[in-house]
Amino acid sequence: MVGTTSAWYLARAGHEVVVVDRQPVAGNETSFANGGQISVSHAEPWASPHVLPQVLKWLGKEDAPLLWRWRADPAQLMWGARFLLECLPGRTRRNIAAIVALALYSRRCLQSLRHELALEYEQLERGILHIYTQPEAFFQAVKAAKTMRHFGLDRETVSAERCIEIEPALADARHLLLGGDYTPSDESGDAHKFTRQLAERAAAEGVDFRHNLTVDRIAAGGSQIAGVLVSGAGGGELLTADAYVVALGSYSPLLLQPLGVRLPVVPAKGYSATLELDAGGLAPTVSLTDDEHRLVFSRLGNRLRIAGTAEFNGYNLDLNPVRCQALMQRTRQLFPTLAFAGKPEFWCGLRPATPSNVPYIGRTRYGNLWLNTGHGTLGWTMSCGSAAALADLIGGQRPEPDFPFVKC
Ligand SMILES: Cc1cc2nc3c(=O)[nH]c(=O)nc-3n(C[C@H](O)[C@H](O)[C@H](O)COP(=O)(O)OP(=O)(O)OC[C@H]3O[C@@H](n4cnc5c(N)ncnc54)[C@H](O)[C@@H]3O)c2cc1C
Repeated sequence: MVGTTSAWYLARAGHEVVVVDRQPVAGNETSFANGGQISVSHAEPWASPHVLPQVLKWLGKEDAPLLWRWRADPAQLMWGARFLLECLPGRTRRNIAAIVALALYSRRCLQSLRHELALEYEQLERGILHIYTQPEAFFQAVKAAKTMRHFGLDRETVSAERCIEIEPALADARHLLLGGDYTPSDESGDAHKFTRQLAERAAAEGVDFRHNLTVDRIAAGGSQIAGVLVSGAGGGELLTADAYVVALGSYSPLLLQPLGVRLPVVPAKGYSATLELDAGGLAPTVSLTDDEHRLVFSRLGNRLRIAGTAEFNGYNLDLNPVRCQALMQRTRQLFPTLAFAGKPEFWCGLRPATPSNVPYIGRTRYGNLWLNTGHGTLGWTMSCGSAAALADLIGGQRPEPDFPFVKC
């Protein structure tokens, strides 16, 4: 989705754009079946002072919301060290400020794009409700909500009763709930459908999508990029352009490393389950976040998407049945009468995670090589704004959000 939105905003700014994607269609990797939330309210990064005791508690547990697998991988170990640094209170606050600024801008960009192009992707504008079932987590959430209100987000702390008024499908879980916070301006929708539609519109505007083509290498010539070596069914070729944008999700650092551009982006595997709902059952329509279990619930038309958790295990895309079942177990706890047809459709994807959850947007030391990557848990939320800002930067304009754009 980040590549597609980048293509759209660059084309609209007057550039001739070619998209190279190894997949047969747009949005087919991490953007395929995510949690569906446009959640500025989720701006608090994983790296925060109070996450460390939780991570220690979860170490080695196969069904833990956050699972760190020890691997002899220097990139992952280095990432872990930088993650610890980002847990300092001052760093966390600074990261929240950057994420809220970009995410608020991005949500506005998405809304205007949706109206302008009449995009339909099972979007719902009913806000996002975070629910809490443990006192410490609720206490921390009250503080986080205050910080986010300070940065301009309408995230209000609410009682357990109010949670049920907002989302009646939570009534059976009343005994678990301590309270919540509600952000009416947040949204939800199917990220894959959005990406596919935007790609179609972009193609109609002249963007040249080259699918089933893999970038094998980015070739440098001095302080500039000379071209990208690509290969597909028809063999290999060198593609050249005035400027190049790396928006390869978790795979971005692999192609940048040989150029000496080292990005601390690692794959953080997340899972989702999609349920086809039966008529008559009580299922949520307001998008929900269950912070303690690191899960989100989004209604996508007649489907319910449950998504979340994180596993640091390299570029591994195996579906672990224990982690799939953990999603369903929590769903049954919260919605014991939920009725769905058939079996859940499980999926996993690799979030391009930075230690701070702040993405890398901006220029590299190569004058014509740009980055739009590392969107971690909030790629859908930040994709339109990141792309609009990137197009401004490439066009020599100052982007609107107050955000730490990179030069690396
Ligand atoms: C379980 C889960 C739930 C999530 N829920 C939410 C949510 O509710 N809200 C939210 O905002 N975000 C959410 N996210 C995060 C969001 O999905 C990601 O941040 C986002 O999808 C990243 O988009 P991307 O375009 O950077 O990466 P990707 O979608 O992975 O795209 C990368 C693209 O690069 C291409 N590519 C890679 N390498 C090559 C190569 N060598 N040659 C050619 N092409 C290549 C791929 O084919 C792909 O098209 C969730 C993620 C997960 C896993």
